[in-house]
Amino acid sequence: MTWIDSHSHHYLSNLSVLSELKEKGLEGIVSASWIPVRPSGETTIHDLFEWVVEVEKVRLDRVGIAHYPAIGIHPRCIPPQGLQAALSYVEEFLAQPSVKALGEVGLETGDEIEMEVLELQLRIAKRLDKPAIVHTPRKNKAVVTAKVLKLLDRVGIDPSLTVVDHVTSEIADDVRRSGRWMGLTVQPAKLTVEDAVKIAMKYDGSMIMANTDTSTELSWPLGVYDLEQSLNSIGAKEVARMVVYQNARSFYRL
Ligand SMILES: [Zn+2]
Repeated sequence: MTWIDSHSHHYLSNLSVLSELKEKGLEGIVSASWIPVRPSGETTIHDLFEWVVEVEKVRLDRVGIAHYPAIGIHPRCIPPQGLQAALSYVEEFLAQPSVKALGEVGLETGDEIEMEVLELQLRIAKRLDKPAIVHTPRKNKAVVTAKVLKLLDRVGIDPSLTVVDHVTSEIADDVRRSGRWMGLTVQPAKLTVEDAVKIAMKYDGSMIMANTDTSTELSWPLGVYDLEQSLNSIGAKEVARMVVYQNARSFYRL
């Protein structure tokens, strides 16, 4: 049984944890950019990208886990100064062939600056033909997600190249109607395994990817593994393969 964590921040996890996950079949990790502090300027953004893209690769090689980096300015990581330079780093790193996607980008409160930074980054991804991982918040989820979907349409980025992440049953139908991918985050404060099973089964696993979004917050690094076990136990083996492995391979072009 092999699986891919299609969105996480495991560069914040120690190597012993990663080596245990490898034993449980973790084949690859999509490492999305985020740090738990608002960067004071563009140099922090640059260093974060270098960490996620270059330093993390060396570390994951040591435990035999494939490394799929994503870079982007998270809505909670918009620097108060040096934004133009930070955006130029997004362009510079995203153009590298080893960088699989823009992310994690999105909206937290949905205010004007977040909208502007998201739009500018999506335009870069569109120009470079790279997929994008788009965050939706816990608070005010339906309203902010509606804003996200509207903005994605306005930018005209291909639906097949965008995953709307942290989907719950509250927004699943809206995301499905938009024709964009769904990210299911199995994590204590986001989705239980049971919730994720329900959504995966409702849409037969199509255009759905599971992730753990493991970070410094309460996380469950085996969430994707548990989801696969749970889907297998109800005989939904094909749905399981798609959601924990195959769909990530096709979305991120691995
Ligand atoms: Zn995340």
